[in-house]
Amino acid sequence: AADSFCDIVREHARNQGEVIAFTYGDEEISFAALDEDANRAAHGLVALGVKPGDRVAFLGKNHPLYFEAFLGAARIGAVMTPVNWRLAAPEVAYILDNCGANVVFVGEGFAAMIEQVRADVPHVTHIIGIDAPEHDGPDYRTWKGSFPATPPAHVVKPEDDALQLYTSGTTGKPKGAVMTHGSILSSRDATACGEEMRKWQEPIPGDVTLLAMPCFHISGTGTGIGTMVAGTNSIVLPEYDPTKALDLIANFNISKIFLVPAAIQILLNHPKVNEVDFSRLKYVTYGASPIPLELMREAMRVMGCGFVQMYGMTETSGTIVALDPEDHVPEGSPKMRSVGKPLAGVEIKIIDEAGNEVPTGTVGEIATRSSKNMRGYWNNPEATKATIDAEGWLRTGDAGYLDEDGYLYIHDRVKDMIISGGENVYPAEVENALYSHPRVADVAVIGVPDPKWGEAVKACVVVKEGEELTEAELIAHARTLIAGYKCPKSVDFIAALPRNPSGKILRRELRAPYWAGKD
Ligand code: ATP
Ligand code: MG
Repeated sequence: AADSFCDIVREHARNQGEVIAFTYGDEEISFAALDEDANRAAHGLVALGVKPGDRVAFLGKNHPLYFEAFLGAARIGAVMTPVNWRLAAPEVAYILDNCGANVVFVGEGFAAMIEQVRADVPHVTHIIGIDAPEHDGPDYRTWKGSFPATPPAHVVKPEDDALQLYTSGTTGKPKGAVMTHGSILSSRDATACGEEMRKWQEPIPGDVTLLAMPCFHISGTGTGIGTMVAGTNSIVLPEYDPTKALDLIANFNISKIFLVPAAIQILLNHPKVNEVDFSRLKYVTYGASPIPLELMREAMRVMGCGFVQMYGMTETSGTIVALDPEDHVPEGSPKMRSVGKPLAGVEIKIIDEAGNEVPTGTVGEIATRSSKNMRGYWNNPEATKATIDAEGWLRTGDAGYLDEDGYLYIHDRVKDMIISGGENVYPAEVENALYSHPRVADVAVIGVPDPKWGEAVKACVVVKEGEELTEAELIAHARTLIAGYKCPKSVDFIAALPRNPSGKILRRELRAPYWAGKD
């Protein structure tokens, strides 16, 4: 079997070279062209002095040439680092400095940002524009054209670093998770070791995937790697746009799409959503943050296709646990509150603070072991040691439990757990109860300091437009659904929740004013 996606794309180029790998507006890139142009980029990077193990960075919105450059870098043993373009200059500087890249590919609209941080990252020696007209330096398309399309001599091994992706920064500073060629290919490994792929994982020739989530997040880059390996077509959107997504679903043969719950919500609120024919859509996969049950049910009702929930993290090269379409039953399946069962080749256990496994049904920290685990955090041996133990178990930082059938239930981050009067309260459970109120548009639950309870449960609530809701009404609603100690003691009504680009609620921002000087 092939050892890396580099080899797999080469096989596709040989066997089905005319098949379209990426579509971007009117532009189509076939597997044959992707393969040859990635080789050109590889030679180009060598000419710039890039060596195996070096990082190269990309700052820009989603673009198929990002994947081509990634493939080119990988073929000479270099490691692509996509940078979150929504970050502010000092944050971009932090990541560029941390990864140490000499070569940066810059997308349209971000040349000024690179110039702004340039003094802080003196090791950046070459900047290449990918369709970035305002960049007055080399243009990627012209640059690669002067190098040969022949494969570079370098041989890629499964244990070599392939991708360095920074975590979402939900709980603190983003950390550079280093994934090897083996870890980003491991769904194939699992089948090679005799375990079964789930039905929705099987690549079907002719599949068309809409790549709508950002490539600086594992969901975007992971989707692109997935279709390159499957030999199928990704239609790339520069950034998530519900109008374009609905148009492509209605008028092209989009069969698969990954969306974070916040993006699903935006889609369902779109004025045109009820006019769209979803019948060609086979699977909506979703994950990265908890989904309110009500939202999941509405999405199933409106889109009517198979739904697959995914649980994973940057540190596990994406999905490690998934809830199959068969377990999504709108009228209520006991498993719908879970994130499903581990993928082939993935081990999951629940541990206590000392690291000992706890009995089935008991909440603890989720730990996982598989070839999908990252090699470690870049240049951060302490954080790596605190996260991955000697036996290869990775602590996720998420709280949860396993049921008798091996389904995993997520109870939020260990750090987000609220201890109120000695009882553990998990924000997601409370949020689910509050979200079921018909006048609630969005909700986040946090712990705030309380002289009597230690921490008290507080809800931060966005009320639906044109509606009114009082604190007492909402607390009364919660009391009919969850235990008294889990119900909020107070409610803040706010205009919008702070979220990061992967749709995750930034609870630390909501908490900050209450904990100033107390944490
Ligand atoms: P940081 O590590 O920098 O604080 P982050 O953990 O949000 O940021 P990611 O690696 O993008 O960065 O996200 C992984 C996390 O997302 C998981 O640890 C988990 O908390 C959450 N998550 C992922 N999938 C799901 C899901 N299906 N349901 C609930 N939470 C999920
Ligand atoms: Mg994390």
